[in-house]
Amino acid sequence: MYDYLIVGSGLYGSTCAYELKKRGKSVLVIEQRKHIGGNIYTENISDIQVHKYGAHIFHTNNKEIWDYVNQFAEFNRYTNSPVANFKGKIYNLPFNMNTFNQLWGVITPEQAQAKIDEQQSELGQKTPTNLEEQAIRLVGRDIYEKLVKGYTEKQWGRPATELPAFIIKRLPVRFTYDNNYFNDKFQGIPIGGYTQIIEKMLAGIDVRCNTDYFQHRDELDQISKTVIYSGQIDRYFNYCYGKLEYRSLRFETEIISKPNVQGNAVVNYTEREVPYTRIIEHKHFDPVDTPNSVITKEYPAEWEDGLEPYYPVNNEKNDALYRQYRELSKLENNTFFGGRLAEYRYYDMHQIIASALKDLKKMP
Ligand code: FAD
Repeated sequence: MYDYLIVGSGLYGSTCAYELKKRGKSVLVIEQRKHIGGNIYTENISDIQVHKYGAHIFHTNNKEIWDYVNQFAEFNRYTNSPVANFKGKIYNLPFNMNTFNQLWGVITPEQAQAKIDEQQSELGQKTPTNLEEQAIRLVGRDIYEKLVKGYTEKQWGRPATELPAFIIKRLPVRFTYDNNYFNDKFQGIPIGGYTQIIEKMLAGIDVRCNTDYFQHRDELDQISKTVIYSGQIDRYFNYCYGKLEYRSLRFETEIISKPNVQGNAVVNYTEREVPYTRIIEHKHFDPVDTPNSVITKEYPAEWEDGLEPYYPVNNEKNDALYRQYRELSKLENNTFFGGRLAEYRYYDMHQIIASALKDLKKMP
């Protein structure tokens, strides 16, 4: 008999497993995929650590969480500075003085602010009614047309004029020549990939991969006292109120016989006509001296059964549905729900660790 059955070996389930083992609890972790790690899984291809489920950069302002994750791996000093390719011209991101100089030739913050003010004014006093108007209100037409419109339309699979304004609450604009995407104090990539973090967390713990909870539920419930469930909450309740919606992604990965393909880890393609949103060149996250490189093209996709549920669509309808499932989850005995799928919300890695450590305080 195990004290805990943990469904899902992602960062949430693995943090719980590691901490519970430290408390002397017996733990079984099950994972429906053929490998541990959930979406932070990295795989060695051609001696390069490939982020299998999308680019992952660890960043946080929380020193405790930074120290916590550094127990499991040494991090490098990677700084995320993506660039945008719009019709063959490169622009720095996030929008900063470099971008404004590339767009308009302006030199000083004052000139850049004046240009943005002038461009925003085309909307007059109108309250934005869709994403296009909201973006123009925030950054003006040039940035919207070149760097926001096509990218966002590909992400959501529909015209910006048909998307609600609330999707873009703010667009970070920086009046310094600083291309560092994140404002956080701590940032980096684990040297040798993320999978080692999960391996170390799960060391000495029983783990069964290729095991779907719902196919073995009777047996698994009988051999465990308490369940921690980090899978999709609607699936747990057999979709009794209906399905929660997600956006998915499709990845096309190839090995290229060149040591350096695009000179940067992340290049966004912001024009509508290019079907992918970005190309990741993995070796720039964790540099290695190899004759080859591995790149991944990322294509946004409508989610359907069989595809990975990557991003929750937190509109009113889905959030109301989630609240119904959450109420049901409170009635389950000896079962805890946590992680991005069970809580139907987007979490960064540092937030997932913090949320697991918080939830663990409630676990016997
Ligand atoms: P998951 O990693 O999804 O783990 C859940 C696990 O449960 C999965 O392995 C799944 O297979 C398993 N499971 C589900 N149902 C069952 C079942 N019935 N039986 C058995 N197993 C089951 N965060 C950052 O901090 N920085 C980034 O740059 C970043 N980039 C991201 C890019 C993308 C494309 C995405 C999608 C996310 C990104 N994140 C990033 C977020 C990060 O991936 C999450 O914070 C983290 O992976 C969440 O961990 P989790 O354990 O909650 O979920």
